[in-house]
Amino acid sequence: MGDLRSIESIHSLPPVHFVGNGFRVHSLITPSGPIRSARMNPFIMLDYNAPHFFSPASIPRGVDVHPHRGFETVTIAYQGEIAHRDNKGGGGVIGPGDVQWMTAASGVLHEEFHSESYSKEGGIFQMVQLWVNLPAKYKMSQPKYQSILKDSLVEVPVGRNSLVELIAGSYGGANGPVETFSPLHICNVQISGEDVVPFCFPSGWNVGLLVLEGSLAVNKDHEVLKDHIIVMAHNAALFKLRALEGDVKVLLLAGEPIKEPMVSYGPFVMNTEEEIRQAIKDFQEGVFGSWPKD
Ligand code: MN
Repeated sequence: MGDLRSIESIHSLPPVHFVGNGFRVHSLITPSGPIRSARMNPFIMLDYNAPHFFSPASIPRGVDVHPHRGFETVTIAYQGEIAHRDNKGGGGVIGPGDVQWMTAASGVLHEEFHSESYSKEGGIFQMVQLWVNLPAKYKMSQPKYQSILKDSLVEVPVGRNSLVELIAGSYGGANGPVETFSPLHICNVQISGEDVVPFCFPSGWNVGLLVLEGSLAVNKDHEVLKDHIIVMAHNAALFKLRALEGDVKVLLLAGEPIKEPMVSYGPFVMNTEEEIRQAIKDFQEGVFGSWPKD
């Protein structure tokens, strides 16, 4: 008893809301819940755009220019295409399986839209946007943008038919392509047949599992259906995943909590109220830079 990390809570998808007109999301991690930012720190926000059909559109849907400071935004595309542009020279289009990793740090302005070609054709759109907090000493560092195509994700086979696809962190001695500012792991896990896929993280780390497809078994007997997110407890390091029915796809997040105060205000996440006031002032005074003219 007690040798496996158990489930602390399971959450179904809360009601959807739109971010701009292009992202139809269930907000699972937010400052006020259903899973509080502090509980899943350093993963301080998670918006899940569950599969949704967007009809063809001549003007791409999305979110217009807005600022960020103090953290990183990570966009994982599962279906459809997302175009990104920021005012520090970062930008590009990502499609199914690709990841955008934007380190806002001291501040960027950016826009996030459906790509032109996806918009013209329409189709199913599925995506996760995650906000990863930065330790205080990196909050005012240089912004950075990484476009990580599916080919550069590191695949680690497990058992006969299962796969851990590493975005950040390590598994089985392999390392994902993203360098992070605090210890964390993000991976897509595909589980099939009878395979058992074990994960082991320090028990104090925060661990969450978003079930994207199938019916997942955690440890021996806990069945969790798709469109649910699991918060794992802190009682042990090791836990085991298995498919109960069909093929399972899970987005796994595991990270060492950043033990610093957090104050968030919309698109700014800092350590103190004073730093939030400064962020608002800097944004209003144009310190984040201007938006490039076409
Ligand atoms: Mn944004």
